[in-house]
Amino acid sequence: MSNIKKDIVVIGGGPAGYIGAIKAARLGASVLLAEKKQVGGTCLNIGCIPTKYFVQSVHTISALRNGASRGIEITDPSFTIDMKKAVKGKDKTVKRLVKGVEFLLNQAKVETVNQKATIIGKNLVKLEDGTVIETKNILIASGSVSATVPIEGLDSPFVVDSEKILDLEYLPKKLAIIGGGVIGVEFASIFSSFGSEVTVIEALPSLLNGFDEEQVEVLSKGLKKNKVTVYTSTTVTKIETHTDEATLSLSNGKSLNSDLILLAVKRKANLSPLTDEFKIKTDKNRLVINEYGVTSVDNIYGGGDVTGLNMLAHVAYHMGEAVAHNICVDLGLLKTPKQKIRLDIVPSVVYSDLEIASVGMTEKEAAATKKYDIVVGKFPLSANGRSLSADFSEGFVKVVSERKYGQILGVFCAGLNVSEIIGEAVVAMQHELTVYEIADSIHAHPTINEALKEAAAICIGQCYHWGS
Ligand code: FAD
Repeated sequence: MSNIKKDIVVIGGGPAGYIGAIKAARLGASVLLAEKKQVGGTCLNIGCIPTKYFVQSVHTISALRNGASRGIEITDPSFTIDMKKAVKGKDKTVKRLVKGVEFLLNQAKVETVNQKATIIGKNLVKLEDGTVIETKNILIASGSVSATVPIEGLDSPFVVDSEKILDLEYLPKKLAIIGGGVIGVEFASIFSSFGSEVTVIEALPSLLNGFDEEQVEVLSKGLKKNKVTVYTSTTVTKIETHTDEATLSLSNGKSLNSDLILLAVKRKANLSPLTDEFKIKTDKNRLVINEYGVTSVDNIYGGGDVTGLNMLAHVAYHMGEAVAHNICVDLGLLKTPKQKIRLDIVPSVVYSDLEIASVGMTEKEAAATKKYDIVVGKFPLSANGRSLSADFSEGFVKVVSERKYGQILGVFCAGLNVSEIIGEAVVAMQHELTVYEIADSIHAHPTINEALKEAAAICIGQCYHWGS
């Protein structure tokens, strides 16, 4: 390849990059997407999808366990996990989704190259094979990679990251997880259900820092049920490698042996497209962008994890879409105003047997603004028919609202399948629907989703399935 000229070069084929590329191409831009590994990025290949494939197995195990009380007689209730088969199943799902993205890119006439790309000039991108592409705009969507922490002995062969653990061919007997954030907790739930003895070590005073305390409580109970040991306010000070396992020394004076250690501390922006040849502003190791997604160079945009703003796939989708729109405005393909990147109403979910899902301000955060007369409606899932018929009475849906207009400030859920509710809460908040409209809308029965209507109804004293 030589003398290639494009309207846009997208670097990175994850959610931000592939959505940006497809959108811009559909609007008429000539787009080249450079992806050094596989399109779909972290999300499809080593993140959201593979972990959710395994979380689904957690649901299957739980259903098997609950079978007896439902009259489903299983003669031998013991089970083992064949990790090779589990990984094969996961790979099949990933492959299907990756093929889907490849199809969409092809259909939109995005030229995709399987190479690493670097930026060597305002309008110049260089591929690994030496090809230089001249382009009007660049979208940096190079995502993020696992970060590390300084621990003596961390180079032990027993230590893996969130990518390697997805391809394990055996089930560890004892798994130690360093980091009790979203990724650490998801893996704790998966491997404890599979039968590993799991210990989570978290430096902060609580698991899932930043989530509502009551939500964390529900998830923590689930981990306890699976006999997961959790050490909070604790760090790993040293790892010693032996023949079949490693010993972790903890700051609380304890030590533990494990045949696998997952390092799940945090993720950091992947700045590999940047070079010394052409400088683009970064700050604390992340790509700096403005509210329209523009970097310090006016024709170079950024989106997704590389910006370090909110490392979630749906945020990356949103940023990819907004940035593609803005580039198409620059190119004269769209005559509409530029679109701002919105990060105010973003849902987040933690998946396990029970889930937690949130959007907006917690009660504490809303109170701290001193702007609202706060009303909280909390509906327990022990009063929700759908949850109970699935043998789950744990959890709740909580709506944080304000008294004057009934504005919804936040929604916090914990329990079975609550990730499926949070979309309605997002739509309501983004379009300024109040608790009155949610409470007034007919929700299908029996659904977990009804609990959102009930919680909204509690806020206005009109819930008939729970005392107000
Ligand atoms: P990425 O998906 O990281 O894609 C970036 C791509 O760029 C990669 O494919 C990479 O190979 C490529 N690339 C990098 N540098 C170059 C270069 N120089 N040249 C060419 N290509 C390059 N988020 C959720 O919302 N929900 C979840 O349930 C969830 N679960 C997760 C579970 C795990 C274990 C992990 C690790 C993450 C999870 N995430 C989840 C986060 C989610 O995966 C990311 O937020 C999302 O993938 C970010 O998309 P992105 O496009 O910014 O970057």
